[in-house]
Amino acid sequence: MSQDLIRLDNISRRFGTVTALADISLTVRRGEFLALLGPSGCGKTTLLRMIAGFLDPFSGQLSIGGKRMNNVPPDHRPVNTVFQNYALFPHMDVAENIAFGLKRKRLPRAEIRSRVKEALAMVGMEAFATRWPAELSGGQQQRVALARAIVNRPEVLLLDEPLAALDLKLRKRMQIELKRLHERLGMTFILVTHDQEEALTIADRIVVMDHGRIAQIGTGQEIYDTPTNRFVADFIGEANLLPITVGNGGIGCPGLDLPGDMQAAPHGRDSAIMIRPENIRLAGETLPAGWVTGQGKLRQRIFRGVGWRLYVELPGGDEIAIDTKESGAELIEPGGDVRFGWPADRCRVLAQ
Ligand code: ATP
Repeated sequence: MSQDLIRLDNISRRFGTVTALADISLTVRRGEFLALLGPSGCGKTTLLRMIAGFLDPFSGQLSIGGKRMNNVPPDHRPVNTVFQNYALFPHMDVAENIAFGLKRKRLPRAEIRSRVKEALAMVGMEAFATRWPAELSGGQQQRVALARAIVNRPEVLLLDEPLAALDLKLRKRMQIELKRLHERLGMTFILVTHDQEEALTIADRIVVMDHGRIAQIGTGQEIYDTPTNRFVADFIGEANLLPITVGNGGIGCPGLDLPGDMQAAPHGRDSAIMIRPENIRLAGETLPAGWVTGQGKLRQRIFRGVGWRLYVELPGGDEIAIDTKESGAELIEPGGDVRFGWPADRCRVLAQ
């Protein structure tokens, strides 16, 4: 059996003059938890709706399990969708809501009963079978919506911002529950979210989207540690993006001393040096050889519980943010000199 369950080849879709998806190629592996992540309007919902069958591509191929799916209606695809607004039937109790799809398929009554029971147990809602949707909290309704989708045993579960309506605490708990549910079921899950922390918490791989295109695909750690462009570096986590200068000796940045091999790094006209605030160390007298070192003047120091955030102005006028727990940080006053550095392999030279 092929590892790849879903395949998109050069998928494009416009709405009027708006290009929602531009030449998307992507494979989704069997059993993986994939997150589609990006800012509002980047095309992630359009992509999910296309896999679900609610929209057809203008061009390109979509296949699931090796079968071409272009123009195949949603109920003929091995997928189920959980929507942000739950979309439970208000006139049916919880068990009837969950049983709905199975009844339509005319499964035997005993099988429906046992599968509904099993699905209720999966989401920890056994005690709520005879409640009406209006009698449930948001989190409970979301669990029922999940049970209603998984009871059909689809190959793929599509999740369209399913936790967006929940408050932060419940949302975080549901993220872990969703991840555990995925591990238990072994189905393929595809989640749309604009919340990078949610994607990092739950997904095996993340597809970062920007203006209808894929900016990068990788595990959370790959995308966080080795972003391949400035958009991804900036969108996931916090990043300093320091514009480079180009001279005879290679690239540079005012206020920074770059080791020789970094000066020779490949670059473009708009390239920037990317370094995460938490990877920067304050310098004592010396820093190890091979480090990028720098200095500037403190603009602002902020206490953040786990440590300090320092905003430092570099000689060229750019600002660099540094997160530190090192003692001594609290002694530096605005206007004071700050010396800092980081191992060269912690930063990257990124093009647009
Ligand atoms: P959000 O996080 O805000 O839901 P998104 O990344 O899911 O955003 P999409 O809903 O996929 O973005 O929309 C992508 C682009 O296509 C947007 O510019 C949007 O305005 C446009 N679009 C989406 N659906 C339609 C439609 N039915 N008619 C016209 N334009 C649409």
